[in-house]
Amino acid sequence: MRIGFPRALYYFDHFPFWAGFFHRLGIEVVTSPATHRQIMEQGLKKASDETCLPLKLLAGHIQALKDVDWIFLPRIVSVEADTYTCPKFLGIPESLLPAVPPGMPVLTVTLNWRKGKRQVLKDLEVLGAQLSQDKADIRKAFNEGLEWQQRYQDTMGAGWNFEESIREIERAAKDLTESAKVPTLVTWKERMFAKMSSTALKPTAELPIVDQNRDRLRIALVGHSYLTHESYANLNLLRKLREKANVELVQNVNQEEVETNLSGLRKKLFWSHSKQIFGAGNKFAEDQSVEGIIYLTCFGCGTDSMVQELVSRRAREQHKPYMVITLDEHSGEAGLVTRLEAFLDMVERRRVHEGYVSTYGECLDRDSNAL
Ligand code: SF4
Repeated sequence: MRIGFPRALYYFDHFPFWAGFFHRLGIEVVTSPATHRQIMEQGLKKASDETCLPLKLLAGHIQALKDVDWIFLPRIVSVEADTYTCPKFLGIPESLLPAVPPGMPVLTVTLNWRKGKRQVLKDLEVLGAQLSQDKADIRKAFNEGLEWQQRYQDTMGAGWNFEESIREIERAAKDLTESAKVPTLVTWKERMFAKMSSTALKPTAELPIVDQNRDRLRIALVGHSYLTHESYANLNLLRKLREKANVELVQNVNQEEVETNLSGLRKKLFWSHSKQIFGAGNKFAEDQSVEGIIYLTCFGCGTDSMVQELVSRRAREQHKPYMVITLDEHSGEAGLVTRLEAFLDMVERRRVHEGYVSTYGECLDRDSNAL
């Protein structure tokens, strides 16, 4: 059995869990290719005009899945206590059904961690029943999924970048499918551990060398994982930025630091991604070694319309250079490069002038939201 997994949206956060889960059940997971022009165009045709760019991309990736028996579209309601995912996540799979090729069955499950682990297991058992799997196997698969996810998060914490971590997960899933031998999993785990404990992490040839030289600028790129790591839609922003600066990402900030940096809000943030983005953004604003913040958002994102403003206020309070880049399907590379270079030049000038901020800016800060 082959399950199609679109390389969009929840792929960027939860793919390791599902790869481990389905592997344990003996099911092959097939991912769609990296985003390209045709995927984007197909997505635009099938998704609602009013929706956000990541959902449009998801619609394109669904259509790009070939030779699979099911397309997997989970409804992820909540990933932790006290928060929800964005309302657009809750509308999946219904809102994406027009993108599903005619006759292709959709496999779905509702996951709500607010209701606890037991409920999540029960929901997975319902999913398992559709796949003719018994409850004991689902429980083992669930634990396997959690283990893969944890391993993935550990690699991120150990200094791997997203591309390296996800490539290892994909390679492992593929190795395991091609070889029925269970010991391969052990080999893979050993390889992961060996790489994680390696002190000299070497960036792969496909990635520009990340120079930890202190003379380089240190810039934070803040935004949803499915925008910062979606290199086609963001016009290779992360790569361009890494060529010129050391880059900090939301995904590299651990949960404890996020929680510590949520203080000062009158109300809790409802959405898990927003919580992570604001917590990390606040940390970067207060961290004096971070010299500038770029907030990456997209047209049609409801949660960012609020969180972007909150992060910008924190950046302003700390007199930190701050820029918002808003993506849509028509974003042009030349405009992006110009803005990026202007921003980095400004941060560099600021370094030379020892953080001088004009009184004109301070006055505006005090009396208005506009800078
Ligand atoms: S958080 Fe924003 S970008 Fe993400 S799915 Fe919701 S509306 Fe779209």
